[in-house]
Amino acid sequence: MIDERAKEQALFWRQFKLLISSGVPVVRALSTATESIVDEQLKQSIEKIKSEIESGSSLADAMRSHGDLFSEIAVTLVAIGEEAGTLEFQAQQIANELEGGLIPVGGAKPVEVIVVSEKVEPGERSKVKEYVDNMILDAISQGASDIHIEPFSQSLMIRYRVDGVLREVEEPQEDIQLAIVDRIKMIAGMDVAQKRFPQDGKIRRTIESMGNKEIDMRVSCVPAQWGEAITIRILDVLSMSAWLNISDLGFSPADLELFESSIRKPHGIIIVSGPTGSGKSTVLYAALARLRSTELKMLTVEDPVEYGIKGSTQITVNPEIGLTFPVGIRNILRQDPDIVMVSEIRDYETAEMIIHTALTGHLVLTTLHTNDAPSAVTRLIDMGVEPFLIASSLILVSAQRLVRKLCPNCKELIELSDATLELLTQNNVDISDKSKLTLFKAVGCPECRQTGMRGRIGIFELMPIDDDIRECMGRGITSRKIREVARQKGMRSMREDGMQKVASGITTIDEVMRVTAGSS
Ligand SMILES: [Zn+2]
Repeated sequence: MIDERAKEQALFWRQFKLLISSGVPVVRALSTATESIVDEQLKQSIEKIKSEIESGSSLADAMRSHGDLFSEIAVTLVAIGEEAGTLEFQAQQIANELEGGLIPVGGAKPVEVIVVSEKVEPGERSKVKEYVDNMILDAISQGASDIHIEPFSQSLMIRYRVDGVLREVEEPQEDIQLAIVDRIKMIAGMDVAQKRFPQDGKIRRTIESMGNKEIDMRVSCVPAQWGEAITIRILDVLSMSAWLNISDLGFSPADLELFESSIRKPHGIIIVSGPTGSGKSTVLYAALARLRSTELKMLTVEDPVEYGIKGSTQITVNPEIGLTFPVGIRNILRQDPDIVMVSEIRDYETAEMIIHTALTGHLVLTTLHTNDAPSAVTRLIDMGVEPFLIASSLILVSAQRLVRKLCPNCKELIELSDATLELLTQNNVDISDKSKLTLFKAVGCPECRQTGMRGRIGIFELMPIDDDIRECMGRGITSRKIREVARQKGMRSMREDGMQKVASGITTIDEVMRVTAGSS
């Protein structure tokens, strides 16, 4: 009898985990997860728990008041999950442990959950907690995208990446350095004792001082020479939604028109290419947000889902359970989508599935890790894809980089030197009307933390696939040759697009040269 109840509860937690990990709010996930449950007692308790949560209780506290159904361990795991923002991970744990007979059903008593490293003396705990909390707050308030924590033989280096550039911050006191790493691992839902294997985790924080803004963070921990190195990627949902307007990404009017008309085609592949951190997924999400409509069904396969897009069903790949990109795509095709987003093409199998998807009448948005637009075509050929299949399915490749924008508060107009005019001319910027050229230099003020730069914008290279490019596709074709053909048809390079933004006073020559170094 006990076994049946444990099974039912395990089923409940597994379904609950799936629901919340795909973005369903807790209360709704609770009721949906009970739909296939037959245990009446469990169903009724969940009903009561739901109303307790609605009147302000935490899930763990609400469960505790139903100790006849949930074990102390289950409640503790949920409490840790709620504290650390890793509820889905903990729900999966509970399901596993119930199934394995490792935890009982029922028997919870109120417990105090301590979520700080056990290594640290009680007096030190608050110091470590405070340090980590402040560090996260500080990084967020500086607009950082990442926090890097790296141990060396005698020190712990902490740096924030702001607008794409790393900034070192003051080193924490030596006595708490080790505990800082443990504390982060713990709140990210990682196994603190495991120090020899890379781990991934997540942190969700509600920032009171920013109007209860919710911020998600993705945490990666790898064992390194002097200890564990941690990288925290800050997924800033609010500033993301500001970015999600496709017309604010930095496309020139002509590029915007081309991009918009391409994503409105009924079938075919659109590839966004660029190195890591060039804003590829932002463009994909913005495209999905633009295409959102009740008449179109959008499905995504991602690694991992970074942002929830309203109106689309999003799946995170999980190779450990066999949910790879190709398996994910094959399964979403059974869901009759109109638009499919696949976060990255990494191998031949995925490329082949994407082409199949496009050729069977779907629009596919995806990314490739290449330096420029023409290389996306040669990369696919190198993976083993037949050139005629690429030719018959690819619509557009958009390559991009992010440049830092000048701080509008302190930028200073500069005189145009002959060398500058020459450089602009070389990059096809029209210099005939000098009054339209407004170039600035970075200065620095408190608003931009003395860097002279604030925020970032994309520079693009859009290559629509027309008959001329299709014709030249074949084994042995070089990206240089494709570039030549595309240039003849008027393709503007990323550097040219960047120089146009320099001439309009948005960024600087140094900045454009920095991010386009190594591309033509
Ligand atoms: Zn400034």
